[in-house]
Amino acid sequence: MKDIHYISTRGQQAPLSFQDAVMTGLARDGGLLVPDEIPDVSDRLATWRDLSYPELAFEIMHLFATDIPEEDLRGLVTRAYSTFMHPAIAPVTKAGDLWILELFHGPTLAFKDIALQFLGQLYAYILERRDGRLNILAATSGDTGSAAICGVRGQRRVNIFVMHPHGRVSPLQERQMTSVTDANVFNLAVEGAFDDCQSIMKALFNDLPFKDAYALGSVNSVNWARILAQIVYYFYAAFRVQEETGAEAVQFAVPTGNFGDILAGWYAKQMGLPVRRLLLATNENDILSRFFHTGRYVRGQVVPTVNPSMDIQVASNFERWLYYKLGRDPAAVRERMETFGREGAMEIPVRGDGPVDVEIRAGASDTKHTLATIKRYFERYGAVLDPHTAAGVFVAEQYDDREEPTICLSTAHPAKFPAAIEQATGQQGLAHHPLLDALEGLPTRCAVVPNDVTAVRTFLAEHAR
Ligand SMILES: *Cc1c(COP(=O)(O)O)cnc(C)c1O
Repeated sequence: MKDIHYISTRGQQAPLSFQDAVMTGLARDGGLLVPDEIPDVSDRLATWRDLSYPELAFEIMHLFATDIPEEDLRGLVTRAYSTFMHPAIAPVTKAGDLWILELFHGPTLAFKDIALQFLGQLYAYILERRDGRLNILAATSGDTGSAAICGVRGQRRVNIFVMHPHGRVSPLQERQMTSVTDANVFNLAVEGAFDDCQSIMKALFNDLPFKDAYALGSVNSVNWARILAQIVYYFYAAFRVQEETGAEAVQFAVPTGNFGDILAGWYAKQMGLPVRRLLLATNENDILSRFFHTGRYVRGQVVPTVNPSMDIQVASNFERWLYYKLGRDPAAVRERMETFGREGAMEIPVRGDGPVDVEIRAGASDTKHTLATIKRYFERYGAVLDPHTAAGVFVAEQYDDREEPTICLSTAHPAKFPAAIEQATGQQGLAHHPLLDALEGLPTRCAVVPNDVTAVRTFLAEHAR
């Protein structure tokens, strides 16, 4: 088997091993790390079909994490998925014509657990072997924060600092984060908006002497390990649906924010999984949907919606896809990203009147359509969809030339968004989960900090490992 190395989309970082890529997060030249080769697994699909989720995860991750001994990697994967509440880890169900891939059976009830439970194990493993320490800094508008905290709570070599906008995340999401009172967990409520949290984070990561002195680490989906962990469920779901239907190929509908989840599906397709198309769904924050219709990537203003984890205008993982689209030419990527940074817009050439891309098609769902979709699926099929999933389902329905079975990624448990479910169906208490009910009245811990880089830097310096 070939050793895979990780190179930057901007071409100015020496190749890294898998473990170094995980520890680095964002490449030092500002680009994103990608594998120097995408393995073709077409001839292995038949032997992978009947594997359990953890077995399949091992087979796929092993191809990319070539510097971790097999037995160690098996252990990491087994531990990561032992916290899931469903024996299948990622079960597939059916609602009407569509297949629903349930990715929310992890400890915080969002699909981010699938990657962050694994990344938490991986960090502990690498740090133990290197006798290292790590200070994770993250910005969250909701789901990432609690999943990241849950992935590393209680670890002895990691501290985690999670910034959320003070008073602007849902009370339930806030409680999911702040009720974790392990000594290595620090919640920071920043007196500003989510964008402010994100720019504080960027400022501290771009301060390379600070980053190095405090061993800052990232859990955002710029980290390759997150994409890797997500590739697995595309294979797993395609196998289940092929088994049920006998179809040769499938397609996926993916509610999208930072482009991480759908990018994992794109890698699965390049590896040889028979995926006809990936259907990308956005909400009103539709920079990606506009791009896949016009070839023009133009920043807009973020508006708050009923599916907040998709309220993103600049999708960090888009650069990875762009790298391949531009023929793996780092100079072309640099030029486009610099133009975008300067002007808030850039363009890629589109041939004739064809689609911008034949593999990824896109659509947007607004609040009205998302809520109507939740109501319809509840009334017709008894299925309660969370508002992110519903946006994906709505977009899937718009592509009615669906010859292949369509699998919609269900990214959160509906109980995380009770207000939207009630608004859509007119019924109270439809969506609940004992884990969330149990948070009521638990002690919480959180520090309120001003919207200011220096304040966060000082807090981190005082509480770092
Ligand atoms: C993060 C998130 C998304 C968006 O995923 P990306 O990888 O950012 O595209 C969609 N739905 C839910 C519930 C999420 O938490």
